[in-house]
Amino acid sequence: MALTEFSLIKQFFADATQKRQDVIVDIGDDCAVLSCPEDSNIAISIDTLVSGIHFFADVDPYTLGHKSLAVGLSDLAAMGATPAWFTLALTLPELNENWLSAFAEGMATLAAEHDIQLVGGDTTKGPLSISIQVHGLVRKGAQLQRSQAKSSDKIYITGTLGDAGAALQKRLASWQPEILSEADWSFLTKRLQQPTPRLAISQKVLPYVNAAIDISDGLLADLGHILTASGKGAKINLDAIPLSPSLKKIDRKRALELALSSGDDYELCFTVPAEHVPAIKALNLDIQQIGEITDEQQIVLLNENGQPSLLDITTKGYDHFA
Ligand code: ADP
Ligand code: MG
Repeated sequence: MALTEFSLIKQFFADATQKRQDVIVDIGDDCAVLSCPEDSNIAISIDTLVSGIHFFADVDPYTLGHKSLAVGLSDLAAMGATPAWFTLALTLPELNENWLSAFAEGMATLAAEHDIQLVGGDTTKGPLSISIQVHGLVRKGAQLQRSQAKSSDKIYITGTLGDAGAALQKRLASWQPEILSEADWSFLTKRLQQPTPRLAISQKVLPYVNAAIDISDGLLADLGHILTASGKGAKINLDAIPLSPSLKKIDRKRALELALSSGDDYELCFTVPAEHVPAIKALNLDIQQIGEITDEQQIVLLNENGQPSLLDITTKGYDHFA
């Protein structure tokens, strides 16, 4: 039987994710109705991924389903929120059953990992685009905001930086250093196509953090947002920037440029007052201290010789309308 808008919703989305107790009215009515615990507030974020802008039209739909949800989950992690519900606005050029099934599976697999339920959406015809709005719960007053960095806070990042940027350069600029093997490229490509939202780390460090952001547009740009919002600057020790084994193989300057300025990593950057550093260390997480917050409103990069170079914190990063 031919797929229609309604059979599509029923087949691929109505039961795509596990059911939560706090969903009072599920997919199928005019609105979803959700119940929020009394001690929490709701954190909301929406992201749109447009074919040809945010992903290549020929991308594997399973990974696209994963990434469409991952970028929103990353925002919840940056806010210190725990995932609860999401809605999905899908614009499709055609009804392709294989494509939809893989897309829904990629999305649902990540949703199951984070106990987030799809509770509604909209389906329209047009150029391929995906909007996901995520809703998370954050204990009253416990949200992590960009504006709360304090002088001499230590700056931490999760995971490694620059991997997604390297994969993007290969696809966009045919940049392909010989030193990188098949295995390196499959690792780097996975980092671009299926980022890991750092919710587990976020929940563990939450009690100790002053300010946080997720790195979607590059460390300098996104740390820059913390600094601007907080009226602060930062000193970054380039030697401390964590690079993956794959990125360590390439020219160091190139690797650092990717780590500082390329986007799509979806790691977290957060600041911690010095008195909480022992507690953070004791957690034994995949995080790295890369520098500290300063009073002067600039980013100072310290290279391996301890030589500082000044960067205007407003100059870097991706701007869709630039
Ligand atoms: P309405 O016309 O009232 O907006 P729709 O016909 O758009 O309702 O959608 C019917 C139901 O299916 C609604 O509950 C809506 O939230 C849900 N829905 C529509 N598209 C999607 C989708 N892509 N994913 C999940 N739920 C969807
Ligand atoms: Mg509708």
